[in-house]
Amino acid sequence: MSGDVTVISGPTAVGKGTVVRALKERHPEVWVSVSATTRAPRPGEVDGQHYWFLSNAAFDELLAADDLLEWAVVHGRDRYGTPAGAVLGAMDRGERVILEIDLQGARQVRARLPQARLVFIAPPDWDELVARLVGRGTENAEQRERRLHTARGELAAADEFDHIVVNDDVGRAVDELVDLLGL
Ligand code: 5GP
Repeated sequence: MSGDVTVISGPTAVGKGTVVRALKERHPEVWVSVSATTRAPRPGEVDGQHYWFLSNAAFDELLAADDLLEWAVVHGRDRYGTPAGAVLGAMDRGERVILEIDLQGARQVRARLPQARLVFIAPPDWDELVARLVGRGTENAEQRERRLHTARGELAAADEFDHIVVNDDVGRAVDELVDLLGL
Protein backbone atom coordinates (compact mmCIF):
# COMPACT_ATOMS: atom_id res chain seq x y z
CA MET A 1 0.00 0.00 0.00
CA SER A 2 1.39 3.44 -0.88
CA GLY A 3 1.29 6.36 1.54
CA ASP A 4 3.53 8.61 3.57
CA VAL A 5 4.41 6.96 6.88
CA THR A 6 7.10 8.04 9.32
CA VAL A 7 7.99 5.90 12.32
CA ILE A 8 9.55 7.78 15.20
CA SER A 9 11.32 5.59 17.69
CA GLY A 10 14.08 5.79 20.26
CA PRO A 11 14.88 4.87 23.84
CA THR A 12 12.80 5.68 26.88
CA ALA A 13 12.81 9.30 28.10
CA VAL A 14 14.63 10.57 25.01
CA GLY A 15 11.79 13.01 24.45
CA LYS A 16 10.08 11.33 21.47
CA GLY A 17 6.67 12.38 22.75
CA THR A 18 7.78 15.99 23.24
CA VAL A 19 9.34 16.10 19.77
CA VAL A 20 6.21 14.66 18.13
CA ARG A 21 3.95 17.09 20.03
CA ALA A 22 6.14 20.03 18.97
CA LEU A 23 6.09 18.82 15.35
CA LYS A 24 2.28 18.59 15.49
CA GLU A 25 2.05 22.12 16.91
CA ARG A 26 4.19 23.47 14.10
CA HIS A 27 2.52 21.33 11.46
CA PRO A 28 -1.04 20.53 12.57
CA GLU A 29 -1.63 18.79 9.25
CA VAL A 30 0.45 15.74 10.27
CA TRP A 31 -1.66 12.78 11.37
CA VAL A 32 -0.36 11.21 14.57
CA SER A 33 -1.57 7.69 15.37
CA VAL A 34 -3.11 7.04 18.81
CA SER A 35 -1.85 3.69 20.13
CA ALA A 36 -3.71 1.15 22.19
CA THR A 37 -2.12 0.09 25.47
CA THR A 38 -2.79 -2.04 28.52
CA ARG A 39 -0.76 0.39 30.66
CA ALA A 40 -2.71 2.41 33.23
CA PRO A 41 -3.14 6.10 32.40
CA ARG A 42 -0.75 8.54 34.08
CA PRO A 43 -2.26 11.61 35.74
CA GLY A 44 -3.56 13.94 33.03
CA GLU A 45 -3.58 11.35 30.25
CA VAL A 46 -6.84 11.23 28.32
CA ASP A 47 -8.35 8.10 26.75
CA GLY A 48 -8.46 8.43 22.97
CA GLN A 49 -6.02 11.32 22.98
CA HIS A 50 -2.77 10.07 24.51
CA TYR A 51 -3.63 6.40 24.14
CA TRP A 52 -6.60 4.11 23.94
CA PHE A 53 -6.35 2.61 27.44
CA LEU A 54 -7.55 -0.98 27.18
CA SER A 55 -8.05 -3.94 29.48
CA ASN A 56 -6.04 -7.07 28.70
CA ALA A 57 -9.21 -8.68 27.37
CA ALA A 58 -9.94 -5.76 25.02
CA PHE A 59 -6.34 -5.84 23.74
CA ASP A 60 -6.70 -9.61 23.15
CA GLU A 61 -9.79 -8.88 21.05
CA LEU A 62 -7.85 -6.44 18.84
CA LEU A 63 -5.19 -9.10 18.34
CA ALA A 64 -7.71 -11.83 17.59
CA ALA A 65 -9.37 -9.60 15.00
CA ASP A 66 -5.96 -8.81 13.44
CA ASP A 67 -6.72 -5.12 14.01
CA LEU A 68 -3.16 -4.09 14.93
CA LEU A 69 -0.58 -2.98 12.37
CA GLU A 70 2.11 -3.88 14.92
CA TRP A 71 2.27 -4.52 18.63
CA ALA A 72 4.82 -5.26 21.33
CA VAL A 73 5.35 -5.85 25.02
CA VAL A 74 7.34 -2.79 26.02
CA HIS A 75 9.68 -2.66 29.04
CA GLY A 76 8.83 -6.30 29.74
CA ARG A 77 5.35 -5.52 30.94
CA ASP A 78 2.56 -3.68 29.17
CA ARG A 79 1.33 -4.25 25.63
CA TYR A 80 1.19 -1.40 23.11
CA GLY A 81 -0.08 -1.53 19.54
CA THR A 82 -1.01 0.59 16.54
CA PRO A 83 -4.66 0.31 15.43
CA ALA A 84 -4.39 -0.74 11.79
CA GLY A 85 -7.71 0.55 10.46
CA ALA A 86 -7.11 4.15 11.51
CA VAL A 87 -3.59 4.21 10.06
CA LEU A 88 -4.51 2.55 6.76
CA GLY A 89 -7.50 4.91 6.46
CA ALA A 90 -5.27 7.94 7.01
CA MET A 91 -2.78 6.64 4.42
CA ASP A 92 -5.64 6.16 1.98
CA ARG A 93 -6.70 9.77 2.46
CA GLY A 94 -3.14 10.88 1.68
CA GLU A 95 -2.33 12.07 5.23
CA ARG A 96 1.25 12.43 6.48
CA VAL A 97 1.14 9.62 9.02
CA ILE A 98 3.37 9.57 12.12
CA LEU A 99 3.75 6.56 14.42
CA GLU A 100 5.58 7.02 17.72
CA ILE A 101 6.39 3.44 18.70
CA ASP A 102 9.16 1.29 20.15
CA LEU A 103 11.95 -0.52 18.30
CA GLN A 104 10.10 -3.86 18.05
CA GLY A 105 7.14 -2.04 16.51
CA ALA A 106 9.39 -0.10 14.12
CA ARG A 107 10.77 -3.40 12.80
CA GLN A 108 7.28 -4.78 12.24
CA VAL A 109 6.19 -1.65 10.38
CA ARG A 110 9.28 -1.87 8.18
CA ALA A 111 8.30 -5.45 7.28
CA ARG A 112 4.65 -4.57 6.56
CA LEU A 113 5.10 -1.13 5.00
CA PRO A 114 8.57 -1.14 3.39
CA GLN A 115 8.16 2.45 2.21
CA ALA A 116 7.92 3.72 5.81
CA ARG A 117 10.58 6.25 6.80
CA LEU A 118 12.23 5.15 10.08
CA VAL A 119 13.58 7.90 12.30
CA PHE A 120 15.53 7.20 15.50
CA ILE A 121 15.53 9.91 18.14
CA ALA A 122 18.80 9.64 20.06
CA PRO A 123 19.90 11.28 23.33
CA PRO A 124 23.00 13.48 23.27
CA ASP A 125 24.63 10.83 25.52
CA TRP A 126 23.79 8.10 28.04
CA ASP A 127 24.09 10.26 31.17
CA GLU A 128 21.64 12.75 29.71
CA LEU A 129 19.15 9.94 29.07
CA VAL A 130 19.40 8.75 32.69
CA ALA A 131 19.04 12.34 33.93
CA ARG A 132 15.88 12.87 31.84
CA LEU A 133 14.30 9.63 33.07
CA VAL A 134 14.98 10.47 36.72
CA GLY A 135 13.98 14.11 36.16
CA ARG A 136 10.52 13.41 34.79
CA GLY A 137 9.71 11.46 37.95
CA THR A 138 6.94 9.33 36.44
CA GLU A 139 8.57 5.94 37.21
CA ASN A 140 9.69 4.33 40.44
CA ALA A 141 13.22 2.94 40.82
CA GLU A 142 12.26 -0.53 39.62
CA GLN A 143 10.47 0.83 36.52
CA ARG A 144 13.44 3.09 35.77
CA GLU A 145 15.84 0.14 35.89
CA ARG A 146 13.63 -1.83 33.51
CA ARG A 147 13.41 1.11 31.10
CA LEU A 148 17.17 1.72 31.16
CA HIS A 149 17.76 -1.96 30.45
CA THR A 150 15.49 -1.71 27.37
CA ALA A 151 17.14 1.57 26.37
CA ARG A 152 20.62 -0.01 26.15
CA GLY A 153 19.38 -2.52 23.59
CA GLU A 154 17.49 0.15 21.68
CA LEU A 155 20.48 2.46 21.38
CA ALA A 156 22.44 -0.41 19.86
CA ALA A 157 19.83 -0.67 17.08
CA ALA A 158 19.99 2.97 15.97
CA ASP A 159 21.79 2.13 12.73
CA GLU A 160 18.83 0.04 11.52
CA PHE A 161 17.01 3.33 11.00
CA ASP A 162 16.99 5.53 7.91
CA HIS A 163 17.77 8.66 9.94
CA ILE A 164 19.09 9.46 13.41
CA VAL A 165 18.00 12.75 14.96
CA VAL A 166 19.79 13.77 18.16
CA ASN A 167 17.40 15.41 20.60
CA ASP A 168 19.85 17.90 22.09
CA ASP A 169 17.26 20.65 21.70
CA VAL A 170 13.58 20.06 20.89
CA GLY A 171 13.27 22.99 18.47
CA ARG A 172 16.36 21.91 16.57
CA ALA A 173 15.28 18.25 16.46
CA VAL A 174 11.89 19.35 15.08
CA ASP A 175 13.65 21.47 12.41
CA GLU A 176 15.49 18.35 11.31
CA LEU A 177 12.30 16.29 11.21
CA VAL A 178 10.48 18.96 9.23
CA ASP A 179 13.29 18.76 6.67
CA LEU A 180 13.26 14.96 6.57
CA LEU A 181 9.50 14.88 6.07
CA GLY A 182 9.60 17.64 3.49
CA LEU A 183 6.98 19.67 5.40
P1 5GP B 1 4.97 5.19 27.66
O1 5GP B 1 4.44 4.11 28.56
O2 5GP B 1 6.10 5.94 28.29
O3 5GP B 1 3.88 6.09 27.13
O4 5GP B 1 5.56 4.48 26.37
C1 5GP B 1 6.46 3.44 26.51
C2 5GP B 1 6.98 3.03 25.16
O5 5GP B 1 5.96 2.44 24.37
C3 5GP B 1 7.57 4.14 24.31
O6 5GP B 1 8.85 3.70 23.88
C4 5GP B 1 6.64 4.24 23.14
O7 5GP B 1 7.32 4.61 21.96
C5 5GP B 1 6.13 2.82 23.04
N1 5GP B 1 4.86 2.76 22.32
C6 5GP B 1 3.81 3.60 22.40
N2 5GP B 1 2.84 3.22 21.58
C7 5GP B 1 3.28 2.12 20.94
C8 5GP B 1 2.71 1.27 19.93
O8 5GP B 1 1.60 1.44 19.45
N3 5GP B 1 3.48 0.23 19.53
C9 5GP B 1 4.72 -0.02 20.02
N4 5GP B 1 5.38 -1.05 19.53
N5 5GP B 1 5.28 0.76 20.95
C10 5GP B 1 4.57 1.80 21.41
